[in-house]
Amino acid sequence: MSTIIKTVKQYSYELDEEMLKELLFIANQYKNVKNYVYSRYSGINSILLLSKDRKIRDEWIKTKFYEQWKLPARYWKLALSEAFSNIKTNWSNTKNKVKDQVNRNSNLSNEDRHYINYILKFDNCYFKVLTNKELKTPKIFEDKNLNYKYLNNLIKRYTRRYKEKIPYAKTGRTFSIDTGLYSYTADGINITSTTKGKRLSIKLSDKNRYDHTMKVKIVAEKIQVHCPLRVKTKTNQNENILGIDKGYKYLFATSSEKLYGENLNQYLSKETERLTKVNSNRNKLYAKYLMHLENGNYEKAKLIKENNLGKKKYSKAKHRHDENIKSYINCCLNNLLEQEKPKEIVMEQLDFVSWDDRFPKSVKRKLSRWIKGYIRKRLEYKCSLNNMKCTYINPAYTSKVCNICGCFGTRNGDTFTCPKCGKLHSDINASKNILNRKTDKEINLYTPYKKVKEILLDREKIS
Ligand SMILES: [Zn+2]
Repeated sequence: MSTIIKTVKQYSYELDEEMLKELLFIANQYKNVKNYVYSRYSGINSILLLSKDRKIRDEWIKTKFYEQWKLPARYWKLALSEAFSNIKTNWSNTKNKVKDQVNRNSNLSNEDRHYINYILKFDNCYFKVLTNKELKTPKIFEDKNLNYKYLNNLIKRYTRRYKEKIPYAKTGRTFSIDTGLYSYTADGINITSTTKGKRLSIKLSDKNRYDHTMKVKIVAEKIQVHCPLRVKTKTNQNENILGIDKGYKYLFATSSEKLYGENLNQYLSKETERLTKVNSNRNKLYAKYLMHLENGNYEKAKLIKENNLGKKKYSKAKHRHDENIKSYINCCLNNLLEQEKPKEIVMEQLDFVSWDDRFPKSVKRKLSRWIKGYIRKRLEYKCSLNNMKCTYINPAYTSKVCNICGCFGTRNGDTFTCPKCGKLHSDINASKNILNRKTDKEINLYTPYKKVKEILLDREKIS
């Protein structure tokens, strides 16, 4: 039986100002440590240092470099290793994207690909290639006579193109605590403070107790404690393979001809309305603030500024709204899985690329990036929790051809019109194409867009 990581959350009650101030200080310093590490070690020149965070730690202690953080050692050490592990993940994501691109590049031979994968696998080789240092051809490639110069340049080019941005934290609102930094009490949790011997005693709303490294997240005037738990996955005896498309008005359309999440748009419109209102209010407040300044009413100006131009209220409302959307998405997903009982889900590769050219501008703006990312993350999570396979297919033209006869048709909102078969529901049509693509012998994940079009046009001629 396999297991997966599930994050469980614990919640505090509203905290007093002093407590919040201390927690925010820790979070902010924690962020500063991480950002420093990012700025110093995320570049190409630091690749070979990434396995040496212990050495860097020792150096910080020896040179007293750590003193500037004004944090107990366990905190900055945790922040340091967290940042290092994020940099490592970042590099491995970059490498995966390079590999992906290498697979798609039809000008390369299998030997070429083998060579590139070899270089990516060994950081000392990769480092030399990226920094233009002399690299002796690895032994296993000595008799291969490949165009090494070209391949090395390709590695460099792809790396530059796909090097992900390091996620610098702008606001410090989270930090981690290991078992040495907290202990549970009868009604809550004690967290190490920056004052020696003093612990922050915080009441929690439940009595669950964990012994993992956890994340503390400061949200408005409360904290959440996020704990990663290992849970067993469920057995899955279903037979159904389901194609899923991200709908036009709905969250999902399925190859079983069902639509889920019809209220998504309503939720998003509500938020857009609210944001517009908030912004206009804030603009008015800001104008007032400037007016007071001009007229020399510094006290009044200060008051407005201290209220942070309504920022507190704003972030509270935003948080509430985000939570609503999340729970709506989860609810729809659960409903879908319950109704469809799939053993495998087939969906498009790439983060909802097709959403972008399918939605009108007004909707596109509403579907902020995090929502797309969130849907995907939850879907993948539920798949592994329920032992369902998650298969990605090539998204090219899945919304442009008819799933019955294969002809190119036209799409207008909810309606897809095939010149032969007539009108179909556009999202259901796409989800059926997605399902069919799983078994398509000619089109795989790496077939370029142009080639897909050629193949589909050929099929249209035959049909
Ligand atoms: Zn048709």
